[in-house]
Amino acid sequence: MHDGENIMVILSSPSGVGKTTLTKKIQQKYENFRISVSHTTRPPRSNEVEGVDYYFISHKKFEEMIKRNEFYEYARIFDNYYGTLKSNVDKQIKKNDILFDIDWQGTKKLSKFNNLKLIKIYLITSDKEELRNRLLKRDQNSKEEIEKRFNSFDENIKHWNDYDYIIINNNLEVCFKQIEEIILNYKKTTFNYSHKAQ
Ligand code: 5GP
Repeated sequence: MHDGENIMVILSSPSGVGKTTLTKKIQQKYENFRISVSHTTRPPRSNEVEGVDYYFISHKKFEEMIKRNEFYEYARIFDNYYGTLKSNVDKQIKKNDILFDIDWQGTKKLSKFNNLKLIKIYLITSDKEELRNRLLKRDQNSKEEIEKRFNSFDENIKHWNDYDYIIINNNLEVCFKQIEEIILNYKKTTFNYSHKAQ
């Protein structure tokens, strides 16, 4: 799966901690980063774009792809499938660094490929109630979906230990800087590399 000097960065967090905003900010600033676009059976939200946020496919198609062993990892989350396609990753890693916005289950599976240059970062909020407010403000999910995501918080954070770094996101700018430092330090120590921001 992996060759060259490109790295893979996983950002996981409970829903609503700001992961999507952060992954987009990293991609905007560092031209070499691409976000891995997952396949999912979840219906698109009104602001989501096919092929940008996800590839939206049916349960039937997803299960056929599982049978054909097309995913490096997939998980069932909130009654839907989410998965990372092998062919997409294999193509991207030849030219780019890759950012994964995947959950702890996917992180565990990718960790098993021990030849990967992989950094695993877990984002958390110190204020659980604030999380509910953010999910409500985001207003992209039904009330039921918001509750499901909020209630998964405790289960989700049990897995923080599987990550290389835990970052508390109380301030998006500070958090972004911390992630930048982790990535640049990793590149510097692994490849003796100085990365140019756009
Ligand atoms: P959402 O429905 O809010 O977009 O995402 C729900 C959860 O699915 C998030 O925690 C997100 O990180 C995770 N997720 C998205 N794509 C994948 C994937 O390909 N694999 C796994 N394991 N998790 C994913």
